[in-house]
Amino acid sequence: MDIVFQRSRCPLCKTTIPWFDLIPVLSWLLLRGKCRQCHGTISVLYPFVEVLTPLIMIPLILWTPLRYVPAYFLFFSALIVTIRSDIEHLLISRFVTLFLIPVGLLLSSIHALPITLLDSLLGALLGYGFLFAIASLFRWITKKDGMGQGDLELLAFIGSFTGIIGCWMSLLIGSILGTLYGLVCAPLGKKTSVKIPFGPFLSFGAISYVLWQQSILDLLFGF
Ligand SMILES: [Zn+2]
Repeated sequence: MDIVFQRSRCPLCKTTIPWFDLIPVLSWLLLRGKCRQCHGTISVLYPFVEVLTPLIMIPLILWTPLRYVPAYFLFFSALIVTIRSDIEHLLISRFVTLFLIPVGLLLSSIHALPITLLDSLLGALLGYGFLFAIASLFRWITKKDGMGQGDLELLAFIGSFTGIIGCWMSLLIGSILGTLYGLVCAPLGKKTSVKIPFGPFLSFGAISYVLWQQSILDLLFGF
């Protein structure tokens, strides 16, 4: 959609949304999640993203050396889009993952990220290769697809912005979060094979790593 010249519209009835119904979080609460015109449901993902964005961007700006903020701001923005689209549609867009890998390489080479160009390149390759190996093994054993192509491209993108250690830590934190979620939700659902998007967990793993990377690196290598 055109984001420059078009006003926000209700995706159901196409009515232009007035400014007072576009106040982050508050408008959604006041409207009780329903369109003022057609009373169609407005996804809870709208206020979710509106809360999530400042929740991760403000610590980023406060805790990160200024010269790395623009690159990480782009990185976090892409991850927010990924989190939402993967939860909503089980889809991850290449425009916010695969196609941004060259940008990660470029930003590393001009020192806009605290990793070297080689680290960025290896991070991307490791991210893709490792999940490719796991996905292939899973398919060989179960004859089913356990992971989407989007997850592989997402971890490659994460690796290009965070390097080998960041890629590995994002996968580790993401897997722990995903497992905890699975354990909590498994007894609640009746279905035996529910599709859980992995992208949001990988993204939260990457966000956690970036925000706490100094503490994580101290913990890993500080002894
Ligand atoms: Zn509507």
